[in-house]
Amino acid sequence: MGDLFIEVKEVTKVFGGRAEQALQMLKSGKGKDEIRQQIGVNVGVDRASFNIDRGELFVIMGLSGSGKSTLLRCLNRLIEPTAGSITIDGTDITRLKKGELLQFRQKKMAMVFQKFALLPHRTVAENVAFGLEIQGVGKEERLSVAKKQLASVGLEGYEDQFPHNLSGGMQQRVGLARALANDPDILLMDEAFSALDPLIRDDMQNELLHLQHQLHKTIVFITHDLNEALKLGDRIALMKDGVVVQSGRPDDIISNPANEYVERFVRGVDLTKVLTAADVMRRPSPLLRVKDGVRVALRKLREAGLSSGFVVGEQQKLKGMIAADELVAAIGKKLETVEQCEIRAVDTVVPETNVEDLFQLVVQTGYPLPVVDEEGVLHGLVLKASILEALASQGGVANEFSTSEAAT
Ligand code: ADP
Ligand code: MG
Repeated sequence: MGDLFIEVKEVTKVFGGRAEQALQMLKSGKGKDEIRQQIGVNVGVDRASFNIDRGELFVIMGLSGSGKSTLLRCLNRLIEPTAGSITIDGTDITRLKKGELLQFRQKKMAMVFQKFALLPHRTVAENVAFGLEIQGVGKEERLSVAKKQLASVGLEGYEDQFPHNLSGGMQQRVGLARALANDPDILLMDEAFSALDPLIRDDMQNELLHLQHQLHKTIVFITHDLNEALKLGDRIALMKDGVVVQSGRPDDIISNPANEYVERFVRGVDLTKVLTAADVMRRPSPLLRVKDGVRVALRKLREAGLSSGFVVGEQQKLKGMIAADELVAAIGKKLETVEQCEIRAVDTVVPETNVEDLFQLVVQTGYPLPVVDEEGVLHGLVLKASILEALASQGGVANEFSTSEAAT
């Protein structure tokens, strides 16, 4: 296991007075709605518990109003938890006095918001350097840090621009650079990409994964989008009505939804991002073997109605593809076995390739894609039809497509 870094235990936040009474009601099993109706207190977070390892990208997801922002803000005590403890790197931050807390925050944490919250009359570099300025870092040094951070998010050369000259995606890169300028251990990101166009959003997600790969920050990332959660999260906590209803690795959540709420979420997932070649491949049949006689190979193809086929050697290792015409020509040339013929090299994919990528490849290549492991062993074939069928059987996206497919 990893190195425990953030430990959240039974954290609860109730808004409004009568906190003790609300806590008692939660303990006796009453829910958020009931408590609001009975005593007019709004439960933001109800006894949330989870651990985050150092270097983890931890996603908190849930519908709007489920308590994500409240929980995130409890982690740096921008919101004071009503009960529970939050231990970060061995320090229970719920016990820190104000001055200690400020210092702790400044040293360890930074936040990235959905609305980038850049200062409009400062240049991009000055925005990034703002936190350092507050800490009294000299101008030259802080601007040099800003420049470096801007380069790390792909904004080299934009130092002297003003925020309004930048697109939304670029402004959020500035927000990210600003958060990184302090070199915090923990990044708290509240729907940081939710306001961006889908393509830009995708870019930013990739950028974040790339940065994370280099920097190994501990990131708590909030989203209401399950696809984003699955793409980014090492682990995901799902919230509903203030409660963490499930937490786990993305594939645990997909394959084992803990309750109906999670299942409903999961059903809306874009399966093209979750299914892999291994999930949709078919058994390769018929297969030609290098030692097959040329006539035997040709007959196998004709019986299956194929104009070409894949050739494997020992231990099912893929050699390539051969066309029936080639075999006919080989008979004319008195060649004996398949291995004496010209075997064409083919594109292959690994079992982990996701369906989204597969679909493009299978359309480009025009033949079924062989799924081959690191040892070169052929595991199966991905046909356009097998992708569509898998998607259709798991939730019906593909019905409008034809599932028939010409033989190769
Ligand atoms: P999310 O970020 O998942 O959309 P929030 O954490 O913002 O959800 O809100 C969780 C619940 O707490 C909601 O019911 C919301 O109305 C309530 N809430 C949030 N902030 C306050 C506040 N300052 N005062 C009263 N209720 C609040
Ligand atoms: Mg929110």
